[in-house]
Amino acid sequence: AQRLFDPLRQFAEKFTAIQSGFTAVERINDILNEPIEIRDPEQALEKRFSISSQSEKNRSGEIRFENVWFAYKNDEYVIKDLDFVIYPGEKIALVGPTGAGKSSIIRLLCRLYEPTKGRILIDGIDIRDLPQTELRRHLGVILQEGFLFAGDVKTNITLGETYSLEEVQTAAQITNVDKFIEQLPQGYDTQLRERGTNLSGGQKQLLAFARSAIRNPHILVLDEATASLDVGTEALIQDALDRLLVDRTAIIIAHRLSTIRNVDRIFVLKQGSLIESGSHNELLEQGGVYASLYNLQMLGT
Ligand code: ADP
Repeated sequence: AQRLFDPLRQFAEKFTAIQSGFTAVERINDILNEPIEIRDPEQALEKRFSISSQSEKNRSGEIRFENVWFAYKNDEYVIKDLDFVIYPGEKIALVGPTGAGKSSIIRLLCRLYEPTKGRILIDGIDIRDLPQTELRRHLGVILQEGFLFAGDVKTNITLGETYSLEEVQTAAQITNVDKFIEQLPQGYDTQLRERGTNLSGGQKQLLAFARSAIRNPHILVLDEATASLDVGTEALIQDALDRLLVDRTAIIIAHRLSTIRNVDRIFVLKQGSLIESGSHNELLEQGGVYASLYNLQMLGT
């Protein structure tokens, strides 16, 4: 496959790969948080075909994969002829065994790689024609455990971009993390340790939500937490998530089938192909792969 943004990305991948505990999606976020100028292909800069030049109402968050094929190397396709539309505001869960291609779909959507064949469009625009700034404005990525750095709480939410304290507080409020932050010794100025070692998993998750909320993207990609949280935090997170997802298109990489019953459609992937799609009830009725997986997991828990 054509590798974009070399050698910086290669460096980033190597760098992050050696840090244990990082998920594929975390790596995506690392890269999305790099300086954009270096990573923006000249082609996109030249075209300046930007979503912001269109009217707001066109920025609706539709995602279209048109006969997308992708191989990391040679012709070993890990994504095979994906052809689907995700409608504005729709919530989609990606389900499938490890290696099925879930992370690769997200990497393609973030344009860390380009399809070997086919196209990916956001609101009708081929993402190859979008500058990274536009793509990032459109697309929020939330990690299993939000990547936090040594710095104050406010900067961990704004990522150093210009937002007022009021905007930060609103984002924190929407995502149920405001009360926690206010209890910290210096509130929004409290210093966090690198990777947030002084926070619980749930608190880190909520901070990651706040970081997305402030950017207000039309599309959110979420790598669902695998670690089980305590019941209180779990409810807080679910509630924050419900609010965060309102009016946004969402793609959730689901690890636990029990949490995705409420999505609009479930995409079941196997070896790079979309083998089933539909609502939870539709898929259960079909009695196919999803139904078997679901019944197995229900038995196990
Ligand atoms: P999932 O997220 O569903 O576990 P992935 O998208 O990570 O699946 O992987 C799909 C396939 O692509 C797997 O066979 C995996 O080994 C392969 N793969 C993933 N990342 C790379 C990479 N950077 N280079 C080569 N092959 C990769």
